Amino acid sequence: TTNLPNWLQRSADNTPQKIAISTPEIEWTFAEFNQQAIQLAQQLATLGIQQGSRVALLASNGLPFVVCVHALIRLGAILVPLNVRLTLDEQLWLLQDVEAMALLSDEHYAERATEIQQSLPTLAEGRLQLERATQQVSLLNVPHDPDAPLLDEIELEATQAIMYTSGTTGTPKGVIITYKMQWWNAVGSALNLGHQADTDCWLLCMPLFHIGGLSILMKNVIYGIRIIVYEKFDARLINQAIREQGVSIISVVAIMLQRMLAELDASQQRYPATLRCVLLGGGPAPRPLLEDCASRNVPVVQTYGLTESCSQAVTLSPADALRKLGSAGRPLLPVQLRIMDEGVVVGPTQPGVICLKGPSITTGYDHRPDATAATIQDGWLATGDVGYLDNEGYLYVLDRRNDLIISGGENIYPAEIEATLLAHIEVEEAGVCGQPDAKWGQVPIAFVCLRPGSQITSTELLAYAAQRLARYKLPRAIHLVQQLPRNSSGKLLRRELPKLL
Ligand code: AMP
Ligand code: MG
Repeated sequence: TTNLPNWLQRSADNTPQKIAISTPEIEWTFAEFNQQAIQLAQQLATLGIQQGSRVALLASNGLPFVVCVHALIRLGAILVPLNVRLTLDEQLWLLQDVEAMALLSDEHYAERATEIQQSLPTLAEGRLQLERATQQVSLLNVPHDPDAPLLDEIELEATQAIMYTSGTTGTPKGVIITYKMQWWNAVGSALNLGHQADTDCWLLCMPLFHIGGLSILMKNVIYGIRIIVYEKFDARLINQAIREQGVSIISVVAIMLQRMLAELDASQQRYPATLRCVLLGGGPAPRPLLEDCASRNVPVVQTYGLTESCSQAVTLSPADALRKLGSAGRPLLPVQLRIMDEGVVVGPTQPGVICLKGPSITTGYDHRPDATAATIQDGWLATGDVGYLDNEGYLYVLDRRNDLIISGGENIYPAEIEATLLAHIEVEEAGVCGQPDAKWGQVPIAFVCLRPGSQITSTELLAYAAQRLARYKLPRAIHLVQQLPRNSSGKLLRRELPKLL
């Protein structure tokens, strides 16, 4: 095994007085930040959390979340961040699937945590709070254990987090995220974007329960740079931070960038030269948005990645942004990429499945050996996304895996919505696809064939689905139809669904 010194501790040793993290209310140096993590780890130990414990976290983007991540690292416990938008049933399913021993929540999700507790009474529970007066993150009513065995080292092979994503079937799977993946992702990103220790400041407005947000927390302490954390995406506040606080890098999805540019126009402002990289990922980048950025000199950098690749795997370098408009770029240094079609590697300009290999790519799915074996062969992860490389080795993503719908940066799996609709006794067949949407990029719509004689209306079906699916997954419309498009072997042709409109 390879061990490294605890990353936050090392930044605290190297640059104790440097600002590590700011929110609109609080600013901590690396020394203060490190102290907070140690104190919280001593409380978490009292709850019985130890090396290897699986700890679910239900919290909004903020200091309690951030400190908790580092406290768990100190204990060698495994973080399982919960998507806060999921319904109670969806969260209960995940907690049982991952066999979490504890659930930590912040003040925003106290009520939901109580509901969860009622269904899963054996879960240890902890409420994180930020005490405004002392500016201290702590667990409510839990004493510190001064003898808690805190780790000074990070074992690269160990699991840092398990993050759920869905796949072909629509059943969520826990992607194993190791420290090694985080380390090589951070190194690969810095080799591409550059590392300016004294001036870099990364603005974090992506959800921390997705890899795009969580990986910034690791870059914060590996690079020893400042991050600014916002609880919610607010274009005005973010543009203000970019203008006034020296933000040099920001990670966004398309809808965020669109809103930022609109707000910039409304307030007749421009971005300062300190902003050197707007990392745009999470889904396809609309071409007009890229052209708009180019004409304004906004340094947008497209990137392609997935949870399984610990965020960025392929990124356009800033110098190529214009010349290769629409491309996701070239693989980061630790990542190998090849395009496969029917089991063979294909050459430039030939489309096929994007496959990735390297130390920043996951080793597999938690307790799903079959899914792991089906996805990773000889170290190569088949993403399921379809794309091609041009003659210079730049990746163009053509199509997303399993008809994945991306709405405002959140993934929606048609199979999951279809399964929910099919569970209704009056539904005989269901098909879901994405519909272009000016605001969200895409929204899901559903097509349903009812059982003979059924009188149920689409409004009633929508109400049924609304009880079972997170709001962003709820179809914009359910269309009742006579028949769904299928191929000769009966497979649903989701791409043909829009023709039924
Ligand atoms: P997630 O696991 O939530 O990070 O979702 C990753 C998925 O988002 C990928 O498998 C792609 O389908 C999609 N995606 C990410 N980046 C891009 C991109 N640059 N262009 C097109 N699709 C993308
Ligand atoms: Mg995503």
